[in-house]
Amino acid sequence: MKIKFYGVRGSLPTPSRPGFETSKYGGNTTCLEAILDSGEEYIFDMGSGLAVLGDDLMSKGFGQGQGKAKIFLSHVHWDHIQGFPFFTPAYIGGNQLDLYGEAKAEKTLEETMAGQQEFPNFPVTLAQMRTYGAELNFHDLKEGESIENGAKISYMKVDHPDSCFSYKIEEKKQTFVFCTDNEHDGSYNDGKYEFGENDKRIVEWSKDADAMYYDAQYTPEEYDPSAFDLPGMSKKTWGHSTYEVGIDIALEAGVKRLFLGHHDIRHSDDTMDAITKRAQDYLDEKFSEGDYLVKPSVQFAKEGEEIDLEPVYFSV
Ligand SMILES: [Zn+2]
Ligand SMILES: [Zn+2]
Repeated sequence: MKIKFYGVRGSLPTPSRPGFETSKYGGNTTCLEAILDSGEEYIFDMGSGLAVLGDDLMSKGFGQGQGKAKIFLSHVHWDHIQGFPFFTPAYIGGNQLDLYGEAKAEKTLEETMAGQQEFPNFPVTLAQMRTYGAELNFHDLKEGESIENGAKISYMKVDHPDSCFSYKIEEKKQTFVFCTDNEHDGSYNDGKYEFGENDKRIVEWSKDADAMYYDAQYTPEEYDPSAFDLPGMSKKTWGHSTYEVGIDIALEAGVKRLFLGHHDIRHSDDTMDAITKRAQDYLDEKFSEGDYLVKPSVQFAKEGEEIDLEPVYFSV
């Protein structure tokens, strides 16, 4: 399978402005594409990056109304759904879009998605989109189930306000874990991070994954300034994590490639480059101290980047 990052920013689209560049890591909110070896098109989250993905799909059958895609939503916070009204393939009759996500607040996924486009928030309602455009099928997911049709998609709740699913895709012995919008629940003891219950579940969930996308919105100082005698607002309970915990989880789980995402809107490319260096130093130190079998590659995800997970046909 191939994974392409169309949006890796958290919270709000963050275009470059004078003195604050974001074009290297990207400013669009969460959207990942997975093209399976079977040729199937899977999409994870519909942040503003979905508009760009939609344009790319127009030359792949979706422009002629012959496209099919499955779209999996981690949750329905704005930064994960705001691209949908600007997804051109949804306006073209004949395309078939299957949307999967958790039903919450006593509403089906379809009712929640319709809410985003209700009058007077947007000029085209979901009902109008559906009448003239693509076939839209909504599927309410319940935790603990999985979907199998060639590839296996499973999902698990992680720690985030209003709840959020992490998805795991397995195809031809390749595993990719999409774990955005998650807050770690462990604590530091003598400078060493000790996993909490949620962290341990994620370690188990991502065991031996070939690649993992993990929420690393904050530096440790931004997450909990008081622990470093710094001024500033604590980000505890906001539902996001740090590169340090992401690296700890990847090391413990034996993840081969770690992509850190949900970049903070106040992190420019220069800031991200500096945090990348810190993350690499942290990885080197942790790996040299521990008894780990796999040293993962670690980087902050970049919009436009593609990962190729080669199928494994034989195992020994
Ligand atoms: Zn988010
Ligand atoms: Zn969220």
